[in-house]
Amino acid sequence: MTAALLDTLRQIVGAAHVLTDGDLAAYEQDWRRRQRGRALAVVRPASTAEVAAVVRACAAAGTSIVPQGGNTGLSVGSTPDASGTQVVLSLARMNRVRGIDADNLSMTVEAGCVLQSVQQAAAQAGLLFPLSLAAEGSCTIGGNLATNAGGTQVLRYGNARELCLGLEVVTPQGEVWDGLSGLRKDNTGYDLRDLLVGSEGTLGIITAATLKLHAQPVARLTAWAAVPSMQAAVQLLGLAHRHLGAGLTGFEAMGQFALSLVVRHMPQLRVPFAGLEGAPWCVLLENSDSESEEHARARFEHLMELAFEDGCVLDAVVAESIAQARELWHVRESIPLAQAQEGLNIKHDISVAASRIPEFVAHTDALLAREVPGARLVTFGHLGDGNLHYNVQAPEGGDAAAFLREQEPRVNALVYDAVAAHGGSFSAEHGVGALKAGTLVRYKSPVALGMMRAIKQALDPQGIMNPGCVLLKE
Ligand code: FAD
Ligand code: ZN
Repeated sequence: MTAALLDTLRQIVGAAHVLTDGDLAAYEQDWRRRQRGRALAVVRPASTAEVAAVVRACAAAGTSIVPQGGNTGLSVGSTPDASGTQVVLSLARMNRVRGIDADNLSMTVEAGCVLQSVQQAAAQAGLLFPLSLAAEGSCTIGGNLATNAGGTQVLRYGNARELCLGLEVVTPQGEVWDGLSGLRKDNTGYDLRDLLVGSEGTLGIITAATLKLHAQPVARLTAWAAVPSMQAAVQLLGLAHRHLGAGLTGFEAMGQFALSLVVRHMPQLRVPFAGLEGAPWCVLLENSDSESEEHARARFEHLMELAFEDGCVLDAVVAESIAQARELWHVRESIPLAQAQEGLNIKHDISVAASRIPEFVAHTDALLAREVPGARLVTFGHLGDGNLHYNVQAPEGGDAAAFLREQEPRVNALVYDAVAAHGGSFSAEHGVGALKAGTLVRYKSPVALGMMRAIKQALDPQGIMNPGCVLLKE
C-alpha cells in the first residue's frame, strides 16, 4: 500500500520531488526544536493541479497530510508526528508571482512565495505589502495566511487576514476552489476565505492568494522612549493614536530585563536608555506618513513634547536617518535571539486589551515572583495590538532544562489563567499548532469548540488534513 502510494506520488510530481531518504531534518524538525517527527515522504509539487493530485492520492490511501511552507512556525504545526506515516506537502516550489493589478492595489502570488520576495515585488511596482516579521526571509505567504501572522505593522494595516482578498485552495478531497478575487466587497454567503485563514493546514491547502497592497509612505519616523511604568506606556499609546491617527504604524514595548539580555549578548548594539533608573520599560514608536518628512517630523516631535509634559515619557530619541531607525528596530528584533542565547525559556504569546495590559503585567509578575521564585521575565512585544511576548526565563545559573521539565505546565497554567481572567487570548499570533491543542480545550468555550469540530468534520470527514493540529485527535 505504502509503496503504491509513493509510486503514484512520484508519477505526479516526479521522483526527484518525493523525498524519502537522506537528511530530512529541515522538514521534520520544528523551528524551535521542540519536536522531531518522521515523515513517510516529503512531496514537493510545482502546481495547483499537482497539489490536488497529491491530495487525491493521499485521500484514497487514507494517508494524512501536513502542509508546510517555510517551517518557521512557532507552535509545532508544520512538522509530521513520530509515526512515519504522514506525508509532508511542501509548497516551496510554488513561488511565482502570478500578477500585480496596480490600479486595484492587489497582487496574486503562489503560496510558496517567501514573504520578503512578496514585499520586494510590491515595492518594484511602487507599492507596499506591509506584512512584516522577523522570519520574513524564510516564511511563506501560504504559512502567513494559514497562521494569520501578525508582526510589527498590525496596528495600521492589520494582520495577514486583513491583507488577503482571495484564496485558491485545494480541499481535503483534492478539489480546487478558485476564490482568487480582487474584490473588496462580496457578501455572497459564508466567508470561506476567512475560514481558511488561520486554519493552520487543517481545512485545506492554500495554493495561491490575492493580496491587498497599499501606497508606499513618503516619510517614516522612528522614536525610542523610556517610560516610568506600563501605565505610562499605555497613556503614550493613547496620545500617539490621537495625534498621529492612521500614521501610527508601530508601537512596541520592551522590559528592561529583555533589553539587558541584548546588552549582554550583543555588545556591539547600542541600546538607548538601557538600565535607566526609574524607567522599567522602553517603547519603540513608528510613524508612517504620506506628507513630507518635514511635516511628519514636526508632528512627531510635537507628540514627544506633549508626552514629556504629561509625564508619560522620561527621555526619548527620534531617529535622524533611516540607518538610525533601522538600528532601533534591530535592537527590538534582537530580543528573541538574545533570549535564546541566555538559555532555555518558556514562551507565551498572549493578548489582552491594551487598556488592561498594565493590570495584567502587575498581577502576573507578582504571581510568578511568589509562585516561581527566581524566574526571570522577558516581556516585550506589540503593545499597540495588546500583544505581549510574556516569556519566562529559568533562574540565573540554574539547570534550565530541569526548570522547564519541572515547571513548564505549572507556569503555563498560572500565566494562561491570568490571561483568561483578564479577558485575553493564550495565542495572539503564533497559532495553536500541535503544541497548544490541549490548551485550546482548556480555554476555548465549549460552544466555540463544538462549532470548530463541526466545521472540521464537515470539510475533512476523513481527518487527513494535519490531524492533531489545532484540534486534538478524537
Ligand atoms: P510553516 O511554519 O511552514 O507552517 C505554519 C502552519 O501553517 C502549519 O500548521 C502548516 O501546516 C500551515 N501551512 C503552511 N503553509 C500552508 C499552506 N500553503 N496551506 C495550508 N496550510 C499551510 N509570527 C507572527 O505572527 N508574528 C511575528 O512577529 C513572528 N515573528 C517570528 C519571528 C521568528 C524569528 C520566527 C522563526 C517566527 C515568527 N513568527 C511570527 C511565526 C510565524 O507564524 C511564522 O513565521 C509564519 O507565519 C509561518 O510561515 P511558514 O511559511 O514558515 O509556515
Ligand atoms: Zn511577535
